[in-house]
Amino acid sequence: MLYLDAAATSAVRREVLEAMWPYLTGDFGNPSSHHTVGESAARALADARATVADWLGCRPSDVVFTSGGTEADNLAVKGIALATPRGRHIVTTPIEHEAVLESVDYLKRIHDFEVTFVDVDPTGLVDPAAFAAALRDDTTIATVMLANNEVGTVQPVAELAAIARSHGVPFHTDAVQAAGWLDLDVSALGVDALSISGHKLGAPKGIGALFVRGRIPLEPVIHGGGQERGRRSGTENVAGAVGLAAAIRLGDAGRQERAEAASLARDAFVAAVLSRVPDATLTGHPVLRLPASASFVFPGTSGESVLLELERRGIVSSSGSACAAGSDEASHVLLALGFDEQLAQTAVRFSWGPEVGAPELATVAEAVIEAVRTVASITQ
Ligand code: PLP
Repeated sequence: MLYLDAAATSAVRREVLEAMWPYLTGDFGNPSSHHTVGESAARALADARATVADWLGCRPSDVVFTSGGTEADNLAVKGIALATPRGRHIVTTPIEHEAVLESVDYLKRIHDFEVTFVDVDPTGLVDPAAFAAALRDDTTIATVMLANNEVGTVQPVAELAAIARSHGVPFHTDAVQAAGWLDLDVSALGVDALSISGHKLGAPKGIGALFVRGRIPLEPVIHGGGQERGRRSGTENVAGAVGLAAAIRLGDAGRQERAEAASLARDAFVAAVLSRVPDATLTGHPVLRLPASASFVFPGTSGESVLLELERRGIVSSSGSACAAGSDEASHVLLALGFDEQLAQTAVRFSWGPEVGAPELATVAEAVIEAVRTVASITQ
C-alpha cells in the first residue's frame, strides 16, 4: 500500500516511540509531584519544552503543551480574543481549519464578537491589502493559517503579521500542516501565536503545542490545577511531549533539502496528472504551496469514487480534509476558492511523507490516470 494521506496523520516513528517508552513505564511520574519520580518527569517535560522552543526560536516559557492542533487553535483564538481588552472583533479567512472557524463562531454566538472574513483569491492566497483593510481599532486577534490543509497554499504570513503588528493586533497562525516542511522561526514570521500538532510530524495523536508570546494576554480554555503556568490545566502528557520533541529533532535535520527534493518530485507528479487526465485542475497556488501535497479536481467524476478506484490499486488518499470526515458536504475551502459545489465534490488530495519519493509518485500518477478514466467511463 502507498499512503498518500499524510495531511490527515502519519505513523509514529520508531525513534519517537523509543524516546517515549521510559515515560510510560519506569519514569511514569506526575511532573507536579515533589518526589524523585515526579521530578524526573518534570525534567523530561522541561527538556521537551526546550526542544520545541529552540525549534520555534522562542523562550521555553512561551510554549504551552496541548492535546493537539485543535486545542492549540482553540486556546489561541478564544484565549487571546477573550483576554485582549481592545474590543470584540476578529479577522480571519474562510479557508481556515474548523478548529479556528468553529472557535470564531463560538465567540460570535456566545460572546457577541464580530468577524471579518478576508477573501482569498482562486489560488487560496490572502491579499495583504485586503487584510490590512479588515483590521480595526477593536480587533482583538487576526488569525491566518500558514499552509492550508486541503489545497496546500502557503500564505505570506510574515507580511500579514507585520501588518497586524503595525496596527497593534495580536496575530496567530495555524502551522499544523506547515510543520516539518517550512521554517517555523516565530521571530522571522513575526507572529504572536502559532499552533502545531504532533501527529502530523511522526509523534502520536494527542499532543500538540501553542507558542504564545509572553506579553500576549491569554485566557485559559481549560481550567483546573494551573499546569502550563495556568494557561492549560490538566496533568501533562509527559510521554507525548517527549515524543513531540523527538519527532521535531528527527524532522529538523535536513529539512530544507528534503523540502526541495519533495517539491521537485511533486512538480513532476502534478505535470504527469495534468498532462494525461483530461480537464484535471490542480487546486491551490501553483508555486506557493506545501512541498509534499497536491490536490486536484477531476470534472465528470466523484472524488469518493476516484478514491475507491485508487484504493483498489493500493493507494490511500483523501477526498478533502479528513478532519471533517464523515461529512459529504463540499469543502468550504474549495467553495471559498470559487469552485462550484459539483466540481468541489470531485476533489482528491494527495499528501505524503518523506518515505514517498519520485518513483512512488510515478506509480501514483499512473494509478490516478487509470482511476479517473474508470470512474469517468462509468459516470458518463
Ligand atoms: N489545523 C490544521 C490546518 C489541520 O490540518 C488540522 C488537522 O488536520 C488541525 C488544525 C487539527 O489538528 P489535530 O488533529 O491535532 O487536532
